[in-house]
Amino acid sequence: MTDTLPYAEVIGDPIAHSKSPLIHGFWLDALDIEAEYRKTHVTPDGLAAYFLQRRADPDWLGCNVTIPHKIAVMDYADDPGGVRERIGAMNTIASEIGGPLIGTNTDAGGFLQPLLRDGWKGRSAVLVGAGGAARAILFALASLDVTDITIMARDPAKGQALLDRAGIRGRAIGLSDALPAADLLVNATSLGMVGQPVLDLDLSPLPDSATVYDIVYAPLETGLLNAARARGLKTLDGLEMLIGQAALAFDIFFDAQAPRDLDEELRALLTAAE
Ligand code: NAP
Repeated sequence: MTDTLPYAEVIGDPIAHSKSPLIHGFWLDALDIEAEYRKTHVTPDGLAAYFLQRRADPDWLGCNVTIPHKIAVMDYADDPGGVRERIGAMNTIASEIGGPLIGTNTDAGGFLQPLLRDGWKGRSAVLVGAGGAARAILFALASLDVTDITIMARDPAKGQALLDRAGIRGRAIGLSDALPAADLLVNATSLGMVGQPVLDLDLSPLPDSATVYDIVYAPLETGLLNAARARGLKTLDGLEMLIGQAALAFDIFFDAQAPRDLDEELRALLTAAE
């Protein structure tokens, strides 16, 4: 018998900024589950040693994965859900005692949650960005039957490669091109994050019924969301996806449903910690 608690954690480089321990810790407390959720700094050079060490630790339930490891971790985990092929990045690795590590991606499902909750029914979307989060979001959009997808990226060839890889017919344009009319605009770049320039788009081509979804969550109130509200558009912020992806991972690690009826309290806690 060990005197330590079972634990999951988030790994990344850097990792100090991660809000995942606050989210999972809040739910563990609310449900009175005797387990922990930590954050651990792991550099790219340290990834192999990290998994070797953790696999031998019977208390380890698995990890969430953030920048820059979401692609590299695919070398260490089995992939029963075909995430490698469909998304090309993993953000959740679960450990089964004596068994293989199982990799999945909860970013796509987490991104979808507020759209499904709100009964969003659009046909067209503009996705800004062609990085790791954009891969998961592209997959999520395709699952919603969004038939008209435009990727805007500073390197449109990178956006086109993402579309080709996902087998999605769409177009890729540059960040200085005019924004096309669309039912949904998603920012999946790091523009708007603390210390980064804002994402400066002229939103006038969007119809009044459009939704603007910024997945940046630090800060929560981005220039893009402010501009969208000034236009009277519906907005979704980065905490929606952050809490959604965490809830799916929580279920995997702790075999319990996150108490989503406490979202308002959780959002207040996360905002106060900004
Ligand atoms: P990433 O893989 O590094 O991708 C970043 C994207 O932003 C790339 O497309 C990059 O362009 C673009 N970009 C960065 N700086 C730029 C600039 N100065 N001008 C134009 N484009 C620029 O990062 P990620 O994991 O996708 O994360 C992107 C953002 O989403 C971050 O703010 C992250 O915190 C947020 N995020 C939020 C959630 C959530 O749950 N809410 C989940 C995941 C990520 P290139 O491709 O040309 O490099």
